Amino acid sequence: MKIGILAVQGAFAEHEAVLDALHIPYKEIRCMRDLQQTFDGVILPGGESTVQGKLLHELHLFAPMRQWIADGMPVLATCAGMILLAQTIEGQDTAYFATIPITVRRNAYGRQLGSFHTESECRGIGKIPMTFIRAPYITQAGDGVSILSTIEEHIVAVRYQNQIALSFHPELDCDYRLHQGFLELCKQ
Ligand code: GLN
Repeated sequence: MKIGILAVQGAFAEHEAVLDALHIPYKEIRCMRDLQQTFDGVILPGGESTVQGKLLHELHLFAPMRQWIADGMPVLATCAGMILLAQTIEGQDTAYFATIPITVRRNAYGRQLGSFHTESECRGIGKIPMTFIRAPYITQAGDGVSILSTIEEHIVAVRYQNQIALSFHPELDCDYRLHQGFLELCKQ
């Protein structure tokens, strides 16, 4: 099994540390040449979605990666990664991969004081630690979207087909169960 980790900007190293701990091979995706390999799943890390979206286009990664995801490749997307997958971004005319029928609100907890840590139930797993950093949340979820977790009535984790999208950063906590669930999808 091999996982591709989008590594053009943001918190990709933290996901790499999780996969190292789980002894799962991965490769960073930084340029078109990296797409020649076969991957069983892909991780879209946190960071700045506008920067990531721009770089994905400039580096010509956008169209091929969108095709992978649309064709069913398992994806684990955290924070900015979730914004890349959303069909609608509040206040913006355009979206990025737009492969999950959700609407997201960027910096939904405020720009400055928007970072916090909590614990909450995640469907199919139980209580997990959740670290939010200038996080988005989901304001609308369409047909077929399974809601995995909500905090104060805001949706913070969903699954849609083979795509798992999270407002928070499981890679920053020592609970690997969400990554393990994603890796199970990648094995199938
Ligand atoms: N605020 C960032 C954005 O809107 C996301 C923050 C994160 O990924 N930690 O893209």
